[in-house]
Amino acid sequence: MSKSLFKKVLIANRGEIAIRIIRACRELGVKTVAVYSEADKDSLHVRLADEAHYIGPAPSNQSYLSVPAIITAAQAAGADAIHPGYGFLAENPFFAEVCKNWNITFIGPSPEAIRAMGLKDTSKALMKKAGVPTVPGSDGLITTAAEALDVAERIGYPVLIKATAGGGGRGIRIARNAEELTTNLEKAASEAGAAFGNAQVFVEKFIEVGRHIEVQVLGDKHGNVVHLHERECSIQRRRQKILEEAPATTLPEEVRTQIHEAAVKAAKAVGYDNAGTVEMMYDELTHEFYFLEMNTRIQVEHPITEAVTGIDIVKEQIRIAAGQPLRWAQEEIRVRGHAIECRINSEDPDNRLFPSTGTISTLEIPGGPWTRWDGMLYQGFKVLPYYDSLVGKLIVWGESREDAIEKMERALGEFKIEGIKTTIPVHQRILHSDDFRSGKFSTEWLEGFLGMK
Ligand code: ADP
Ligand code: ADP
Ligand code: MG
Repeated sequence: MSKSLFKKVLIANRGEIAIRIIRACRELGVKTVAVYSEADKDSLHVRLADEAHYIGPAPSNQSYLSVPAIITAAQAAGADAIHPGYGFLAENPFFAEVCKNWNITFIGPSPEAIRAMGLKDTSKALMKKAGVPTVPGSDGLITTAAEALDVAERIGYPVLIKATAGGGGRGIRIARNAEELTTNLEKAASEAGAAFGNAQVFVEKFIEVGRHIEVQVLGDKHGNVVHLHERECSIQRRRQKILEEAPATTLPEEVRTQIHEAAVKAAKAVGYDNAGTVEMMYDELTHEFYFLEMNTRIQVEHPITEAVTGIDIVKEQIRIAAGQPLRWAQEEIRVRGHAIECRINSEDPDNRLFPSTGTISTLEIPGGPWTRWDGMLYQGFKVLPYYDSLVGKLIVWGESREDAIEKMERALGEFKIEGIKTTIPVHQRILHSDDFRSGKFSTEWLEGFLGMK
């Protein structure tokens, strides 16, 4: 079987996702190559891979974001494929092209598909043309304050100013009136310029009572695209997810079907192959849904979809990249039960969830039926400040939402991590709350609940 796949996959990433990919490769009989920065020489992904190559100093622009360093490592190791994980180079069309030029298979979509979905304003325009609903707004970039004021007048306040190159919840600002719009427009542009090297912004309607619903899709190199149903990701802080569930139990059935169909249409419109996620906002007041963006990579929360569908998405990514056709027809992909993921971040719940660093002195990881830990921690491991604060993900599956909640509470109660502050107490509060249990929450709920607003 491995003959038709790859000889060696280099994983151009770190942390829990690098480990996740190493595990998938090992089960497929494919050798793995880890890369690591100075800060990661003692990291678990380095120990678990078949071989590991040093790629530079701690700052990611000198290591995990360095295309020459990664290609050099791939050449030295004789890797015939690269899995980019998420973040870093995962959505960089230039990197995907360089891989192609070096005859290395990029385990992800084509450079063209990445580029088409890369900027939020152009992908929105493309989706609108393809017949996928988009959030009402400026229909393109905003260049003057007068233009922004006109758009806001037309669609009504509040509005969001969004950096077209933004990601990870950064580069988004709200404006509740004309005055805020004028001042925030400049702030948003200069921040975006500094953070993403692209100061361009656009304006769209702020959906005040909305849910983040996203659809996992898989496409192959033979023109087939299927969806793996949806995830509910409205539990967020700083516009970044912290707890996710599958399926979205409160969604009206006809809306669910329409969202799935729209996601497949979006993927087909850009000739998508490999795994991707179409993110949507569902307006609870109007029952309309809108395309937000497409993430052209594996997503942090992919395990909850794996739990309810039984499909190993990372293994499928590798099979698809090797040219194999999808192994299921749409109607064969069914959802069973309910799954929840809690992102365990090294953040301080008593200090506005600011990143926390330290050495892991005690570690007891929960187990039990349908309880999965995708993590990078071990006793003695030093959590440093250079990268993302995500140190692992706890995932449970239950026969119902109630059962999954009970399992997650039980598992979180068993967790012992000492040496760093984590988001575990936040998850316990969320799971215990009446609002969460009854399904009454929107994307704005968590910050209010935690008193962060
Ligand atoms: P997901 O969409 O998979 O839930 P997140 O939005 O939390 O993931 O982002 C996953 C990772 O990718 C995080 O480390 C985040 O900082 C990073 N990331 C996402 N988008 C970008 C981007 N445009 N530029 C740089 N990093 C990004
Ligand atoms: P990123 O690339 O940073 O993930 P997204 O466009 O996916 O950016 O938006 C991140 C989050 O911001 C969404 O999950 C949602 O909570 C919020 N958001 C984005 N657009 C809107 C909108 N038009 N109205 C309300 N909330 C929004
Ligand atoms: Mg997003």
